[in-house]
Amino acid sequence: AKENGGGGRLEIYAAHMHAKVVGRLELQTELRQALANGDFVLEYQPVVDLESSQVTAVEALVRWQRGDERVLPEGFIGPAEESGLITPLGEWILREACEKVALWRASDWDIALSVNLSVKQILAPRFVETVAGALADSGLPAEVLTMEVDEEVLLEDQGEAVERLAELRRLGVRLAIDDFGLGYASLAHLRELRVDTIKIDPSFIRDLGTDGTVTLLTHTIIRLGQDLGVQVVAEGIERSEQLEQLRSMGCGYGQGFLVARPMVAEGVEALVGGEAGIPL
Ligand code: C2E
Ligand code: MG
Ligand code: MG
Ligand code: MG
Repeated sequence: AKENGGGGRLEIYAAHMHAKVVGRLELQTELRQALANGDFVLEYQPVVDLESSQVTAVEALVRWQRGDERVLPEGFIGPAEESGLITPLGEWILREACEKVALWRASDWDIALSVNLSVKQILAPRFVETVAGALADSGLPAEVLTMEVDEEVLLEDQGEAVERLAELRRLGVRLAIDDFGLGYASLAHLRELRVDTIKIDPSFIRDLGTDGTVTLLTHTIIRLGQDLGVQVVAEGIERSEQLEQLRSMGCGYGQGFLVARPMVAEGVEALVGGEAGIPL
């Protein structure tokens, strides 16, 4: 560092950056080991038909069991994307979830599956083959699987990803736009890709009924879905007023803590226990 007052600060800054880089590398090593050791766990959050209150699908959500701590995706998906680990991790998630849901279906439960995808996974070599392999090995019909992508995938510079998604679509796999809000997703792409589902971002649901603009926008998204023949799922339903409002607006499906929290497979089995219904 230079011989002026700022030198010390610069060194502290450099040391801080160094610690950050080392920390990130350590985390990435730890994540790689966790995958090898089988320390990732899937939870499943039920999605219900708002008219019948029946559970029609589950969304697989990954957690990292790090000793006693159960780490949420926010704590590791970013680093897993940066290091490329998201590709083998994503394949594990897909295979695990397909197997579980195929088992549930074999016990005569008509249930569908949603799995989240990172753009990085979509752009990895042999992505489409990987999905086809997971379906073939589990015996899950392609139409039962929905892959969720964020609307950023539909931005212009993601032509490659859009092409891969179109290939998935041709396999029979369904597509959902996650965290949908009017603003980013190209509506043209919604049609072009023949997206099956849009999932309304929880920020809309949070202010439903209290913020007039948000309420109007939510209603508009629901109508857009109806006009395009696309399923609409409201995410983040926490209060019964929100549920009632969504029902009155004709929203087809819902997901949120009020309906059911994400839970391990045994929890889903206990919740559903034969007659798939949640008292809503
Ligand atoms: P997402 O796909 O939008 O998943 C919904 C998130 O909202 C989940 O958080 C879920 O626990 C949470 N949630 C559900 N209902 C409510 C509610 O009523 N209130 C509130 N406050 N939150 C609710 P989670 O599990 O922490 O996942 C966060 C994000 O991490 C997911 O957002 C998804 O983008 C990503 N993610 C999760 N699992 C995977 C995965 O297997 N692969 C990839 N690539 N990303 C994943
Ligand atoms: Mg999702
Ligand atoms: Mg998401
Ligand atoms: Mg979402």
